[in-house]
Amino acid sequence: MDIGLYLGKLINIKTIINSAAERDSEIEKYRKYAEKETITCPFCMANLLLRAGDIRNIHFAHTRGKTCQLARAYDSYQAQVSRENTKHSVIKEIIYTDLKGQERIKSDLKVEYGYKEKGPESWRYYPDIYINNNGREFAVSIITNVHEIGDDKVVQLINRRTKYFRDRGLQTIWFVEDRELAEDINHNMLHLWEAEYGLTMKTTEDIKWDQLLEDLSEEFPDVNIPALFGYQAHVPLNFDVRSLYYVHSKEDSITISVHRLILDQKKTPYRAFSLTRGYQLSISHALIVRDEILLSDVEEEDKERTKFASDLILKVEEHRHRLTSINENYMEQPNPIAEVRQHTSERSRFTSPTTDSANADPDFDLTGSILMLKNCSISEAEAKQLYYYVRFNRSDLADYGLTLKDLDKMIQFALGRIQAPQIRKWLVDIQFL
Ligand SMILES: [Zn+2]
Repeated sequence: MDIGLYLGKLINIKTIINSAAERDSEIEKYRKYAEKETITCPFCMANLLLRAGDIRNIHFAHTRGKTCQLARAYDSYQAQVSRENTKHSVIKEIIYTDLKGQERIKSDLKVEYGYKEKGPESWRYYPDIYINNNGREFAVSIITNVHEIGDDKVVQLINRRTKYFRDRGLQTIWFVEDRELAEDINHNMLHLWEAEYGLTMKTTEDIKWDQLLEDLSEEFPDVNIPALFGYQAHVPLNFDVRSLYYVHSKEDSITISVHRLILDQKKTPYRAFSLTRGYQLSISHALIVRDEILLSDVEEEDKERTKFASDLILKVEEHRHRLTSINENYMEQPNPIAEVRQHTSERSRFTSPTTDSANADPDFDLTGSILMLKNCSISEAEAKQLYYYVRFNRSDLADYGLTLKDLDKMIQFALGRIQAPQIRKWLVDIQFL
């Protein structure tokens, strides 16, 4: 163990030696202190000796190889967090101090370091912080270095610990280091590591979000909600809202950002449809313990839900208006495409119908398609290819001096002249990309 009590004060021998100018003489000094019985175990108060066969492995040990249960739990916890970076213990201490402050004024709240609380039961893993609120137990765990070489290992570690705590009746609350946060606001999208799937939680506020989405789906049964917000889903999403909490640390203050999201199919690139932009909460606000740790600002959540619903209603109206104006244009200018088609000298290489799962073809001829679109002579297959091209390579449009807006205008024009519903369908889909 790297800690001991010296003159009533907790010291960490690794920290002392690492910051010493003369390491060897410092080691000798503490070896003597320990031999003269001045250093004791903070848990059982037995005398400790200094062992320093190798500087990296320097530690205090109980005499004659004996140890006590809590010292063993401490060592096992230290081994467990050895994968974390230096921010981990800073964040843990701030959260611990805040929760301890609440413990003083709430008689049914107990807060303790995980290894201290569960050490006597000799657990395999310990949460950073243990909370018991009126009989309900929580395992608060902070995770840094979420993505490492071998993401699988992190995924397994998270799942194993969550399950281990759950099997013992504890709900795990994960706080994720913010450098993993990758948000694409324009597409209501949160890019994730696979490991982050296992760090989401289901809280009371998430259940309220589920209810809202259910109401909205009933009101707008034909609307693909994520798509209207610009989100590109791997598969149609089940509305099971979950939350994810990132910790942002600046010197000695930390805040938490709250994200409500719907996880997409678990395949790379891992992503989620985000319902909010992730508002920030002060740590003491986030950690207020009621039935559970609040982890939210109730007023802010109500505001976010209202905003989401009104954004959706606006988008639905826009969508409907657009469809109506397409139809009106079409009625005004019923221009048969057959004669226009004759002017086209070159036919597309995509003559056979492709399957629904077809993606953008790497050899796709964008300029050719645009030309045919302008001439209103685009075929169904070409329109479909164009759709997939724009969907997956829209940033390349600029290389051709085109913007989505230009394309939108051309499509608007073509829709006034093209009659075939199959072609119109793909063109309209492009407009909604
Ligand atoms: Zn001891």
